[in-house]
This record gives sequence, structure tokens and C-alpha cells, in this order.
Amino acid sequence: MDDFYRENILDHYRNPRNKGSLENPTHTHEEDNPLCGDVIRIDLHVNGEDVIDQVRFDGQGCAISQASASMLTEMVQGKTLEEAKKLSKEDILEALGIEIGPVRLKCALLSLKVLKAGVYDVPEWTDDGDDW
Ligand code: ZN
Repeated sequence: MDDFYRENILDHYRNPRNKGSLENPTHTHEEDNPLCGDVIRIDLHVNGEDVIDQVRFDGQGCAISQASASMLTEMVQGKTLEEAKKLSKEDILEALGIEIGPVRLKCALLSLKVLKAGVYDVPEWTDDGDDW
């Protein structure tokens, strides 16, 4: 079972989905994880019905950080902003499907942090509080 998830992570890392940038994003945000050197930027385009109709990410870093960003873009595509705000770290960890140690957790959750900071339009996301 673990092998399936490991393969899936490597597949997303090697063939990232929705990689690139949007010409006219309504939301864009970038964060880094200095512990590992991961950088992720997410561009969203939200239409008049509050639906995320386009999403792109760009970045560099370890396989976990990039794969989770790729998976996240697939999760938010077609969702409303409200739904995107409800995505939790459990959703990401479930999609990754392997055990993530405390150090790797920051890698795994970087993309979610970027998304949340982006959709809430906060200039700077803080790490306190566990509810993201
Ligand atoms: Zn990393």
C-alpha cells in the first residue's frame, strides 16, 4: 500500500499537474519553507460565482512539497472559495498517504499554507494555531 502512495508522490513530483502561472490571477500568493528550501506560489482565478475555475502552482523544493502542491491544485480546481477554505491538513496528508515525520510536515503542508494565505488575502501567514 505504501508503495502505491510513494509512486503517486513521485509521479506528481515528476509530472506536476497545473504547473505554471496564470495571466490574470484573482489571487496569488507565495511562501517558503526555509527549513528545507521549498518555495511554492499558487495562482487562482475565481469567477463571478466564487468558483475556482483556474489554478496553477509554481515552485521548487523537495518531492513532498512539490507533490502536495500538485495534488492540492487538483483538489481545489472547480471548488468554491468557501470549500477551498475548508480544506484541512488531514485532506493533504490523506492524499499523500504516507507517514510524514514532524520535519517533513512543513514540506507537506506548505502548499496548503500558501492556498489559505492566498484565499484569505492575508499578507503574512502565521504558524500559530493548528486549525489550518
Ligand atoms: Zn521540503
